[in-house]
Amino acid sequence: MAIKFATVYGIPLYVDYSWFIIFVLIVWTVGFDLMPASYPHLSTLEYLSIGLASALLLFVSILVHELAHSIVAERSGIKIGRITLFLFGGVSEMEAQPGTADLELKVAAAGPLTSILIAIVCSGGWLFSETARAPILVQAPLQYTALVNAIVAGFNLIPAFPMDGGRIFRAFLWRWNRNLIRSTRIASMVGRIFSYLIIVGGVIVLFFSLFEGLWLILIGWFISTGASAEMNQLIIQRDLAQLRARDIMTRNVDAVNPDISLEELSVKFHEQRHNGFPVMAGDEIVGCVTMADLRRVKREQWSALKVGDIMTPKEKLVTVEENDSAQRVLALMNSNRIGRIFVLGSADGSSGSQSNKRLVGIITRSDVIRTIQMQESSGAHTAADLESAHVIPVERGMLFEVESPSGGDWRASFNPAEISLVSQRVENTPDGGEVKRFTFQGLQKGRFYITLVKSGDSEAGKKSSATDESSLRYTIIVS
Ligand SMILES: [Zn+2]
Repeated sequence: MAIKFATVYGIPLYVDYSWFIIFVLIVWTVGFDLMPASYPHLSTLEYLSIGLASALLLFVSILVHELAHSIVAERSGIKIGRITLFLFGGVSEMEAQPGTADLELKVAAAGPLTSILIAIVCSGGWLFSETARAPILVQAPLQYTALVNAIVAGFNLIPAFPMDGGRIFRAFLWRWNRNLIRSTRIASMVGRIFSYLIIVGGVIVLFFSLFEGLWLILIGWFISTGASAEMNQLIIQRDLAQLRARDIMTRNVDAVNPDISLEELSVKFHEQRHNGFPVMAGDEIVGCVTMADLRRVKREQWSALKVGDIMTPKEKLVTVEENDSAQRVLALMNSNRIGRIFVLGSADGSSGSQSNKRLVGIITRSDVIRTIQMQESSGAHTAADLESAHVIPVERGMLFEVESPSGGDWRASFNPAEISLVSQRVENTPDGGEVKRFTFQGLQKGRFYITLVKSGDSEAGKKSSATDESSLRYTIIVS
């Protein structure tokens, strides 16, 4: 949970609620622990002011550190979704990874270098203020900021991926072996070793100081989860690299009219089991309406209000062009925190001007997940891998889809106590065939099976050539 507090250079800045815990802790430790030890005889108000100033300065320092990463990245053409400050510092969410080792090095080094620079400047200011006998209220925050920036720089330079030092390490590996995936794997492994060392260190420190020990354990844990998340992100990006929006979108889109009442809309939600609809006036998309939009309106008003009154208007929709990369689709979903994106294209397939762009499809998060699963399994070679090609890992309650091969009438066989069939629909494939798409929901945790069975061909005599493909088994792992 984070709140937006500013926009700098077009980058939205967020602060996570966990940061407020740190804020209070800093005010407390600096103002009422460190300061009374080094400068006794100050008033409570003075201690409190120094504590507050220090916490604010740490906040600004981390922000400037993150902005340094982001600005270098943006100058090199990498879009920054947002910067979030949270418990352990900050994170700049890049919409893509730096494309070259040199660029990665520049982006990663920009943060710590900036922190070192602030530390040097503040040290100078502190020494000057000390010789000039400036009030402690000036001296102390300068001293603290110098110290804190030196710590931020030093801490980030630990070669534990995905921290800055680990990224710099990866950039050097990458430049040397020219293989990003392998370099990331090595850097992640080193990062994980460091994180475990930090955790072990934290456990030892625990015997001497509970607070510092817990702090180290938390940091170690944070680095270890970050390392694997980053590796996953990279694999996902690789899987999506060759694909465009039109390859992963759902083409037959169910839409609603802006003039129908919310009463009718709620019926549509029930019938079609979608979480949201594009709103179309004739051929033109005018907005989008979701279940959440409907829930915000009181039940009594449903008959009086129309879809057009509550929808997100077209201008605010996140859309992509059908030729945009699948990576960009995922990045937009993540940076905008949305579950569906509309795909625009000219209906006749030619490249038209912006004004005659039509809605040609929708991409939901499950479309992306399914694509990644398919890409993962298409890299399979051994028998065991082929078996796992049909393994679908899902979370309980999550909707997932299974698609039949093209041609014929397919039905799904499964145990309704374990899995529920939410909807099924026939869709046209680009090559003129038909596939059936089943949407399921996992009801309980465990390992279950869904078998797609091809029913006897309805057109008598016309036997499909792919007779050996008349049933397909999927293993569903619900966690
Ligand atoms: Zn950094």
